[in-house]
Amino acid sequence: MSRRAAIATVLLLLLGSTACSTGASGDDDGRLRVLASFYPLAEAAEAVGGDLVAVDNLTPPGVEPHDLELAPDDLEALVTADVVVYVGGGFQPAVQDGIDQAEGRVVDALDSVSTLPPPEGEGELSVDPHVWLDPERYSQIVAALAESLAAAEPADAETFRSNARTFQAELEALDREYADGLATCDSRTIVTNHAAFGYLADAYGLQQIAISGLSPEAEPDPARLAELATLVEREGITTVFTEELAPPEVAEALADEAGVRTAVLDPLEGLTSREVEAGQDYVSVMRQNLRTLEAALGCA
Ligand code: ZN
Repeated sequence: MSRRAAIATVLLLLLGSTACSTGASGDDDGRLRVLASFYPLAEAAEAVGGDLVAVDNLTPPGVEPHDLELAPDDLEALVTADVVVYVGGGFQPAVQDGIDQAEGRVVDALDSVSTLPPPEGEGELSVDPHVWLDPERYSQIVAALAESLAAAEPADAETFRSNARTFQAELEALDREYADGLATCDSRTIVTNHAAFGYLADAYGLQQIAISGLSPEAEPDPARLAELATLVEREGITTVFTEELAPPEVAEALADEAGVRTAVLDPLEGLTSREVEAGQDYVSVMRQNLRTLEAALGCA
């Protein structure tokens, strides 16, 4: 047997023994393997798990997570992870279809928060899935995730809970900044590219008008755009919001028509590669969103 073949055989044996182990299996370093279906859940898992877990994200940077397609490798990762965390309600049907095969613990983030119904005419979704955009609901998801990791690896339960409390304190501070920053504004109406900000609007007393539906790809018809342009002018709205991961053309057309500005209000469905390189995260992007909202709404 050649040296290379011998090494390959040893590797196969090692891999085989890992795959056959039971209970809290972990990866090669014994860490718990957590699979998150998109960015905010991956960030929550990393915050809670720290060095004790290996977190993978099914949705790559720069990719919009609605209706994510799964490659065979993705499905395999979903089946074999120790913990899978996702958002149900029809947000990512392919993930939901694969969940039944998952061998590890499964966490639907929607189970730990109060949900809002989808806007009218959104037949494919049973609830509005964008729960992470309310820091308080996101914090509840973080707490639930800590309990799931604790159940999967009881020896590290206290570390997971303590990490969760640290992240939750940051989210509580962010929530206070939002409540203060949006307390007194000239306008409370936000015109968004897709209906991602229902929970944020619910938390801080804003009214969301979405150009398209709950998914960024839904296209509005010309009559709807004309109606929105009239509304933007009548309400004195200064800004139409675009987002990082969806094409801005429709929002730009509306802003042109109504003679107002556009600005990016990031629904945090994923970070772009540029944001990842710049060290951006949930809290930093949410702070940027708050500054954008304060400027657009004329908050004192
Ligand atoms: Zn969305």
